Amino acid sequence: MRPSVIDKPACWPPPNLTDYVASRAAFSWASAQSKLAEMAGGGLNMAYQAVFRHATSARRDHVALRWIGRGGERRDVSYGELAARVARFCNVLRGLGVQRGDRVFALCGRVPELYVAALGTLTLGAVFSPLFSAFGPEPIRARLAMGRARVLVTTDTLYRNKVQGLRASLPELRHILLLGPAEAADEAAGVHDLERRMAAAEADATPVATAPEEVALLHFTSGTTGKPKGALHVHQAIVAHHTTAVSALDLRPDDVFWCTADPGWVTGTSYGIFAPLSVGATLLVDEGEFDAARWLELLGEHGVNVWYTAPTAVRMMMRAGATAQGRPPGRLRFIASVGEPLNPEAVFWGLEAFGLPIHDNWWQTETGGIMLANFAALPIRPGSMGLPLPGIEAGVVRRDGDAVHEVADGEEGELALRPGWPSMFRGYLDDEARTRACFASGWYLSGDLARRDRDGYFWFVGRSDDVIKSAGHLIGPFEVESALLEHPAVAEAAAIGVPDQVTFERVKAFVSLRPGHEVTEALRRELLGFARTRLGASVAPKEIDFLPNLPRTRSGKILRRLLKARELGLPEGDTSTLEAGA
Ligand code: ATP
Ligand code: MG
Repeated sequence: MRPSVIDKPACWPPPNLTDYVASRAAFSWASAQSKLAEMAGGGLNMAYQAVFRHATSARRDHVALRWIGRGGERRDVSYGELAARVARFCNVLRGLGVQRGDRVFALCGRVPELYVAALGTLTLGAVFSPLFSAFGPEPIRARLAMGRARVLVTTDTLYRNKVQGLRASLPELRHILLLGPAEAADEAAGVHDLERRMAAAEADATPVATAPEEVALLHFTSGTTGKPKGALHVHQAIVAHHTTAVSALDLRPDDVFWCTADPGWVTGTSYGIFAPLSVGATLLVDEGEFDAARWLELLGEHGVNVWYTAPTAVRMMMRAGATAQGRPPGRLRFIASVGEPLNPEAVFWGLEAFGLPIHDNWWQTETGGIMLANFAALPIRPGSMGLPLPGIEAGVVRRDGDAVHEVADGEEGELALRPGWPSMFRGYLDDEARTRACFASGWYLSGDLARRDRDGYFWFVGRSDDVIKSAGHLIGPFEVESALLEHPAVAEAAAIGVPDQVTFERVKAFVSLRPGHEVTEALRRELLGFARTRLGASVAPKEIDFLPNLPRTRSGKILRRLLKARELGLPEGDTSTLEAGA
């Protein structure tokens, strides 16, 4: 029988729930902000905090970024070198007449220039918007048009294959900056060789003294529940990036930190760029795609101390039977995950494979930073998203017309946050009404359903769009999926509600199997029985289908809405973020 709590030795304050409560009481965003501003001589510009502050200090020669190329090549970039490249990029933009507030988009893989472009854009006070490089032309066009992109940083190949044909429909897109070989460069058409321009630019720049509320980033959501939304974030978000990296990820200045998310998604910028650099840590950047064996090697070889990944990657590693046992001991101290519910099985797998449990935490594109977390020093409750961070007030509420009230501990409701933390989005792009609909009675309403236990730990129930209503019960898909995942044959599971004449909806599950297991009628029956024993007849799935892989977004989230649409023969909706082949 698995324990319901994993106790750990104290390693970072607060070491117990009482101290946690005290440290929350002592925290204020205002003092966190003034401390950061002081360290940087008053500047809150994100690029200042992330790079220039270190480049002018004793950390100058510390490695800011260790890049591992697809072919295994390795490049270390110190804070001093990064600042010089960031300054050059800023000056390239300046030379092109790019203004403070203009939007600079990036469409490329995880190469050092992507990080330089993000930080150089912010140095100038322009707005950075990353796009996932595997998007097809239409999702790219839609986002560039919606974001009124003025500059696009991309590669020669991506430009020719995906962007060149769109130029006529994007009159506001004035400049293309090509990375690497720039054969398509054509100055008259505004297509520039970035490296050539960088070489000619000054290696020195002072970040623009942006106001705390000045827009810094435009991020598109994952599109799990529908058409992706553009969320705007401001420069003072760096205060939340910095403090949450310390409190929720236990990140320290001498750490090597690996965030596996692509900067095309918010995790890949908040924690893949800004948070670790603001702390002064070394960022591991892996250009290649997921590969369980190679990931294990990277963790050991580069002495990763803190690893921030996603449940989908964890499940894929579990499926591949990956384990660090029997390898030389690495330096891994802390593992965390975000993006989807982390099934208890996955938390325990961490203990078996690395001797460390996996710490789930919760946040969204809209929150800009981690809001709830299982902290390094507190016991983990497997299956729980953890406790609110210092400076964050979270609640479980029900909307009743315009009124919103909190429900009792243990009851399900919508996960809500009191607005006011620095990384909160300042609105959806061009969608005032939708922004307004997220706020009521002094709460930001997340659209996720959760419950809180007596000790204040939050438990994910499901997205409000995914919850299944069956015979008067509200069933969260996560509960059903977690039970199925306990079966040794199951690699992944997704539960949806399908219409039922008697019960309104009944639970149907889709399952993919671990290697070595075959789809058989006997296994289907076994899984149905297994789930019924664990969940009871009213919650257990009535039907199970096998799929080789579940459809997911490119950021790794299972697309239950797509399974449902396919099941019911309905239109698939926006599939711009659907992973290829799913
Ligand atoms: P869209 O808003 O376009 O439908 P999305 O909500 O998936 O897409 P993101 O902002 O990338 O876009 O993801 C945030 C969502 O991911 C959360 O609202 C929540 O549903 C889910 N999520 C994140 N972390 C966790 C977690 N620890 N446990 C459960 N769900 C999580
Ligand atoms: Mg969302």
